[in-house]
Amino acid sequence: MNGKPDHSTTLQLFFFATLVIALWNAEILFRKEPLREKWRHTVLNLHFLLTATLVQLPLTLAVIKVSEYTADQGLGILNRLPLPSSFAIRFLMGFLVMDFFEYIYHYMMHKTAFLWSFHLIHHSDTELDVSTTVREHPGETFIRVSFMVLTVYLSGVPLAILLIRQFIQSFSNLMAHTTISYPARLERILRWVFITPGLHKVHHHDSMPYTDSNYGDILCIWDRLFGTYRELEVSEINFGIDTVSPSEIRTFPNLLAYPFLKKEKKQEAEASSEPIPQKLYVNP
Ligand SMILES: [Zn+2]
Ligand SMILES: [Zn+2]
Repeated sequence: MNGKPDHSTTLQLFFFATLVIALWNAEILFRKEPLREKWRHTVLNLHFLLTATLVQLPLTLAVIKVSEYTADQGLGILNRLPLPSSFAIRFLMGFLVMDFFEYIYHYMMHKTAFLWSFHLIHHSDTELDVSTTVREHPGETFIRVSFMVLTVYLSGVPLAILLIRQFIQSFSNLMAHTTISYPARLERILRWVFITPGLHKVHHHDSMPYTDSNYGDILCIWDRLFGTYRELEVSEINFGIDTVSPSEIRTFPNLLAYPFLKKEKKQEAEASSEPIPQKLYVNP
């Protein structure tokens, strides 16, 4: 970092944007839907870049400050462990600790009703492509980066490791959502350790228990360890959530309002003693 977080952030944004554009163009070559439909889907999801930037930028500064503070004060798990000075080992430990925290974060987003009401916006996409990566409710952006501030404080992970990890994470997350698949053999081998595009797509299946599986961010070892690892043939996957009607989330304002509307709907349902329908639609 060397006191130049602005340069690293610019480089990351450039890397992210280049990869998004390259994958999006590659997707066009292999697309099944009309190009017009793909544009509509992409434009809707790209609205979230604006809200993410507004929420994420000030919180990213907090991440940088906290990381510098923990390094100065010798705080956090990594600073307390008697680790050798080798950068490779320190990087591996930092990477593993951060990835484990990401697993806990994603698990919480699914298992807590309040947090799920925001995270489901990401899951509500019924046509996964590279633009789905940025489909995140600003409420979740706030929760995610705030949680990151906490994990950086607890782990004491150095900023250099955090930044290198961020590049790997961007690549992994974009590949996880794109329609471009890895060769079957490579996918099989990578699945032993990594969250592959095939595994993350299982996580986007519209019904349980698949929605609540493969929580890993870059690594799938935590899913294997804690019994949340699941496989499903791509041909059997229906993207979306079976408790949300697509008509309720057709526009950007719909998607922004949905976590709050849902609460009212629940209250209405409770008041009328009507059971909440659990499966409002099924993907064709
Ligand atoms: Zn999820
Ligand atoms: Zn996803």
